[in-house]
Amino acid sequence: MKEKFVTVPDAVVQALEGAGNIVLFTHIHPDGDALGSLFGLADLLLASGKKVFCYLEEPVSHLYDFLPGCELANCSLDDLESFVDEASTDLVALALDCGDADRLGVHREKFLNISPFAVIDHHLSHRDFGTVRWVESSRSSTGEMVYELAMALGLEITYRAAYNLYVAICTDTGSFRYDCTGSRTLHIAAELVEKGVRPEEVGGHLFDNYSKERLKLMEFVLATMNLYESDQVAFIHVTRQMLRESGATMEDVEGFIDYPRSLRTVKIAVFLKEGKNGQVSVSMRAKGECDVAAIARGFDGGGHRNAAGFRLSNTSIETVRLQVQEKVSRVLHDQKK
Ligand code: AMP
Ligand code: MN
Ligand code: MN
Repeated sequence: MKEKFVTVPDAVVQALEGAGNIVLFTHIHPDGDALGSLFGLADLLLASGKKVFCYLEEPVSHLYDFLPGCELANCSLDDLESFVDEASTDLVALALDCGDADRLGVHREKFLNISPFAVIDHHLSHRDFGTVRWVESSRSSTGEMVYELAMALGLEITYRAAYNLYVAICTDTGSFRYDCTGSRTLHIAAELVEKGVRPEEVGGHLFDNYSKERLKLMEFVLATMNLYESDQVAFIHVTRQMLRESGATMEDVEGFIDYPRSLRTVKIAVFLKEGKNGQVSVSMRAKGECDVAAIARGFDGGGHRNAAGFRLSNTSIETVRLQVQEKVSRVLHDQKK
């Protein structure tokens, strides 16, 4: 079946075509889609003669430092302000893969003063912000949308951009396995491979890159698995103590949730992460019709139907577990009706 997609809105194309200087933003704690879209688009825009500033609140995680172009990342607010001043009115800001303004980070109010402020995103839970928007929740990834944008702008896809966009699409589709993977997604991935991207090389960087510390941490985390609701719900958690004992970092937990999700009977997997100072971050994954974005929204978070998250302050893993368990059970029971 052919999917129905909107064409890239003219306002987005015109905003980017018309500006000589572009500031790119993405969401905090950026994943493969966020960084791949950012560096992929940056490379395309630079190749077309534009000046580009890639702002990140924190340096690129060691999990993604293989991305070509990650040296473009700049965390300096002073540098950003100089770029904006120099560009004067010949400037557009663009947020990629960011579901709501809060996820632009602590300096969001400053960023949102830039006008026009364009937004390209695919979150089901998207809350509108910015002045020029393209939000399409049926898209697999922002990387896929950046490819369509490049076509609309008439830009030739460079190898470096292809590599980044492939990482973006591959990570957000769970290596082309999730429901969001459509025929257009695979066509675009094929085009990127035509540009020279080697799936085996990317797969090696993304999935066969564990340190001993990371594998140790996984051992601790998997040992915490609890099953509920006739094995349809799995919870795992990570504590600060586990990080200390394994020598790994919180970045290293990326992908761990795929293991409880992989259990045949599991419909919803939940990962509770103990942050600093009483913060707990929650990642959820679901299969099929189970909507975890709705649960996340109830806690002021967001995401997609099958992958969502949120963060709470002044709490504990045990408290959050009980809160989430109740909501998850309700979703499962409502689904049966
Ligand atoms: P994660 O479990 O961190 O990989 O996130 C899964 C999905 O949920 C991603 O699409 C995120 O954008 C979204 N998400 C995660 N945490 C939050 C949050 N605190 N607020 C809004 N959306 C979130
Ligand atoms: Mn993302
Ligand atoms: Mn995404």
